[in-house]
Amino acid sequence: MSPLDTIAREKQGDRSGPGFRSLLAQRPHLTLTAVGLAVEAVPLIRIAVGHGTPTWVYSAGAISHRYRMMATALSATGLDVRIHYALKANDALAVVTLLARQGAGADVVSDGERRIARQAGIAAKDIMFSGVGKTEAELRAALADGTGQINVESGEELAMLSGIARSMGVTARVALRVNPDVDAGTHEKITTGLAENKFGIPAADAVALYSHAAALPGISPVGLAVHIGSQITSLAPYRAAYGVLAELVQAIRAAGHTVTALDCGGGLGISYEDEEPPTPQAFASVLKETLGGLDVKLAIEPGRWIVGPAGLLLTRVVMQKQGEQRRFVILDAAMNDLLRPSLYGAWHGILPITPARWRAALSPADVVGPVCESGDTFATARPLPDLPAGEVVALLDTGAYGAVMSSTYNARPLAAQVMVSGTVDAVIRQRQSFEAMRASDVLPPWLGPLLPPPRH
Ligand SMILES: *Cc1c(COP(=O)(O)O)cnc(C)c1O
Repeated sequence: MSPLDTIAREKQGDRSGPGFRSLLAQRPHLTLTAVGLAVEAVPLIRIAVGHGTPTWVYSAGAISHRYRMMATALSATGLDVRIHYALKANDALAVVTLLARQGAGADVVSDGERRIARQAGIAAKDIMFSGVGKTEAELRAALADGTGQINVESGEELAMLSGIARSMGVTARVALRVNPDVDAGTHEKITTGLAENKFGIPAADAVALYSHAAALPGISPVGLAVHIGSQITSLAPYRAAYGVLAELVQAIRAAGHTVTALDCGGGLGISYEDEEPPTPQAFASVLKETLGGLDVKLAIEPGRWIVGPAGLLLTRVVMQKQGEQRRFVILDAAMNDLLRPSLYGAWHGILPITPARWRAALSPADVVGPVCESGDTFATARPLPDLPAGEVVALLDTGAYGAVMSSTYNARPLAAQVMVSGTVDAVIRQRQSFEAMRASDVLPPWLGPLLPPPRH
């Protein structure tokens, strides 16, 4: 590669990243066997042949293991803290049910997510309802169901909730979501705790609004909530945000109110490439250090950390095309399936599943999908072996913000989802059929009924 090439690639943010072996070493649910890459004890070739591609594959073992790692780290601190899994990271019924069986509560941001949590067997009292724009219908449904906590994000929402609760003759347990104005040091599109962001109420208004809430009919303020962003890879922003929370608790109590619950949000990052996010133990000690002495029930809302590394997107090479300057590996998965690379410039490990490809020489390739947008690119100048049509590769760490962000752009039906447990695999969401994808389409009456398609 000439120096000019290097400069050009750096400009585009190209990063070759860790090699295959080192990606594998850090992901204990993945192994390279004689028949190729396997998730737990199921070879991926079996899934690709049996269920087709593209297909999302989740390791049940990895999800449970990560949940337990987090739970163990928290309980070792002796704090009263509960894990509320953030459904928006991955809302597959099987994933939520698996976590519910481990004892997880839920953090939901829509009526749809709230209903999925309930279907999965999570008790209404173990659900937190977050979000800046909950509608009246959503709040009414949550109250009717006895939802454990509603995280209110503005004075306007508080007034609306009070009116709804009063009309229903119920009391809403409310936490005020505070915006601590700290920089989570993450991608701008997933930073939520800066004053300029749409989330929460300014810390300076919290005491007054809490007092106001305590006087409102139908509202029982129980505490505060924060969530400062996602894919956070250092402890400093957490320390800062929880410090703000601790001060507010003292101030609210000094004003004569009770505070019994703090929702500490989610956001803990994972290692996609070479990030070194804090361990659950280190995160738990920050909780203890900052909030341990307050005599409150704590909750955290991890999403990505629990499910992200446990999933991959299995996809087949449609063709390998030698462009004028670059080699393109064109996959049957696209930005409509996995949006993160186009949306955030996110880096995902890409592993061939055939053993022979692990021994072959590497050269840079752009890995792209078939959608008609240049942004439909998963990787640029990635060192990869020759990957002729028919080869299958895995896009790693796509268990969070993967399938949930999929669309049917380019009239591409949603991919199948499979869960692996030990030696068995099961479809947890069918591949969408053409008919299901179009089932909601109707013609306006003035166009009349569909005519039979012309013969030529
Ligand atoms: C998105 C979100 C989470 C989960 O964030 P992760 O980065 O996936 O851990 C938790 N709480 C709230 C309020 C959220 O909006």
